[in-house]
Amino acid sequence: MRMDENWSALPLGKRPPGRWALASRFIVADLPEGRRLIEHGEVVIEDDRVIWIGHRFEGELAARYQMGEALVGPGFVDLDALSDLDTTVLGMDNQPGWKKGRVWPADYAAQAREMYTPEELAFQKRYAFAQLLLNGITSALPIASLFYRAWGETVAEFEAAAVAAEDLGLRAWLGPAYRSGGVILDAGGTMQPVFDEARGLAELEAAAAFTGRIHGTAGGLISGMLAPDRVETCTETLLRRTFAHADAMDLPVRLHMAQGEMELQTVRRLHGMTAPEWLDRLGLLSSRLIAPHATVATDDDLARYAANGVTVAHCPLVSARHGSALRSFSRLKAMGIRIGMGTDTAPPDMVLNMAIGLMANRIAEGRGDAASAAEFYDAATIAGADALKRPDLGRLAIGSKADIAVFDMADRMIAPRIDPVQTLVYGATGRVTRATIVDGRISMRDGEVAGIDLKAARARAQAQFDGLVAKYPERTHDHPPVETIFPSSYPAHPTKNEVLP
Ligand SMILES: [Zn+2]
Repeated sequence: MRMDENWSALPLGKRPPGRWALASRFIVADLPEGRRLIEHGEVVIEDDRVIWIGHRFEGELAARYQMGEALVGPGFVDLDALSDLDTTVLGMDNQPGWKKGRVWPADYAAQAREMYTPEELAFQKRYAFAQLLLNGITSALPIASLFYRAWGETVAEFEAAAVAAEDLGLRAWLGPAYRSGGVILDAGGTMQPVFDEARGLAELEAAAAFTGRIHGTAGGLISGMLAPDRVETCTETLLRRTFAHADAMDLPVRLHMAQGEMELQTVRRLHGMTAPEWLDRLGLLSSRLIAPHATVATDDDLARYAANGVTVAHCPLVSARHGSALRSFSRLKAMGIRIGMGTDTAPPDMVLNMAIGLMANRIAEGRGDAASAAEFYDAATIAGADALKRPDLGRLAIGSKADIAVFDMADRMIAPRIDPVQTLVYGATGRVTRATIVDGRISMRDGEVAGIDLKAARARAQAQFDGLVAKYPERTHDHPPVETIFPSSYPAHPTKNEVLP
């Protein structure tokens, strides 16, 4: 694909001056009559907004940039956006989780500590935000693991995250994750829930104050979100106060539930029911709630989601890697449940995520005609924006925000082309993302992101991650050496005392 030379010369992180057009072979346009594909068309942008879409704009333009054989569409809305150096990837071939540092042993829990420095915590968010932009994600609700943390996330790292989102040009809903409890392994190796309600409530108050402070800053790029950690780590009071804050500030709440066995067992033991039923009885299920992942949701749970307008954040890549799937995307849609998409793992590749979602849905449904590529594309754009009550996002419409992803449709790895949306989803790689525009600014172009040197950052990220892996033994049951927790795929050769012939 040949892009316009002038386009390549535009400074990253800035809006092109004046009123400008992106011309492209294919454009996904949201017109009053619905979502349409325009061939040989253009999108006209002024400041932060799309002001015109069609075949050829006849008004005055400061510049017209030719994208060539590209698909120009709305950027993705990521409801569970990877925002750390993903540690779930360590568990894909290394099972079970409780033997691999995914559940704290009691002796570690008593002295749990931060495994990263404040600088490392800030860096990993900045690095992760760059990865999201590389994948055409323009709106993100960050998620990170708490397993390597002293307890919840900190306000300080989110202050830094707000700066990073503004520097890089990513629309972000920010709020540190907090919790009242956790599940630990007792000396006999049995999982036990433990709680420290005061700690959770203090973290909640700090998080709520932070969200109030940052909501609407950076020219509207940053919004607040309440992000209690997994449901089994929350008490009734923590959840009630969370929703009270969210109601007062009109913010979304994201809460992981109906997502795993450890949660099912713990919540049943504590409350005698499933998490969705528990929240429903507390009167807390609402259209404010974004709930990853629903993979273990019962029919009754799903009916409660449907009745209360809950949005499921569907993250099929991370689920499939761990042997689970939503059952199913098509069935939830037929029930009237709102489904947005989340990446939640490395790589935070929304295109791959849609592809896995589409395939997992067809396997779960046992039929090849279940849910099209377009339905997943809509889930990753429109449905995510609707969960955030933002009709100006997730769409390419006159008056919508200029949040745009440009995909190469002439990539040598994905020929022949069928239809651009089908080719994108079945091609299954976000590596064809050529540009990401947020709020009318060019945040990413040809693998470069404003505000970060990705080559240096990649090396730093690897070193930081290796340092974390080296610390796994202290918080893993029975404290085995790293080589035992995460053995290599094949035995290493030569072994330590051997030399190659
Ligand atoms: Zn998740």
